[in-house]
Amino acid sequence: MTQQPADDDLLCHDDAAYVLGALSAADRRAYEEHLRECQTCQASVRRLAGMPGLLALAAPDAIGDADPPVPPSLLPTLLRRARRADRRRRRLVGGVVGGLAAATAVLLVVLVWAIARPGAAPTNSADAGTSTSASAGSSAGPIAAPDETVPLDQVLPGPMTATLELDDKRWGTAITVVCSYEQSMRGSVPYDLAVVDTDGQVTSAGSWSGVPGVTARVPVATAVTRDHISAFEIRLADGRTILRGSP
Ligand SMILES: [Zn+2]
Repeated sequence: MTQQPADDDLLCHDDAAYVLGALSAADRRAYEEHLRECQTCQASVRRLAGMPGLLALAAPDAIGDADPPVPPSLLPTLLRRARRADRRRRRLVGGVVGGLAAATAVLLVVLVWAIARPGAAPTNSADAGTSTSASAGSSAGPIAAPDETVPLDQVLPGPMTATLELDDKRWGTAITVVCSYEQSMRGSVPYDLAVVDTDGQVTSAGSWSGVPGVTARVPVATAVTRDHISAFEIRLADGRTILRGSP
């Protein structure tokens, strides 16, 4: 059978009617032909297979028909009842298909809402970051963004990348070194943060050791106020500068 894709698409809509036994003999044959080839329909028929049993509980007979019993000799009445039952069954199929579509739409809305919810994750991570830096500082409030963030550029290629978070203090500048080390880094190497002030004087703000594969937040400090700092340099024990940046 070589059916046009459009016909196939239309047949795909018969899945619920097929499972409910609501297709005419000819339509059922056409659908079964289609079902052999269409994986989408195979899946939906499997999914819908339990439905007739559930719907039987809600069948007109089970709900209760208000009409009194009709003597079988009354052919016109029987015909009318048959037609009415047929209409009811079609309505039922339409209702089931419509219900599935509505349920899918609701699910989509929920999914889109969950995905598009305005910045839930960024807000959380920002909170976590600032609360950590606040606890690293000495007198800041419970939640405070750093006064300035200084990215450091690599001077010598190495396994470390770092950013400095600066907070102005009356005694100088609180600094959080946010540093990451490649997993492949060998051993633990000590680093020193040198502060170069606007007069060219160099002082150490603190030292720490790197841990391979870890991002660390190291609180250090300098008496130099932010407006008197001209550069930060992360140096190795032998004095070589590996990272540098300016506020
Ligand atoms: Zn199909």
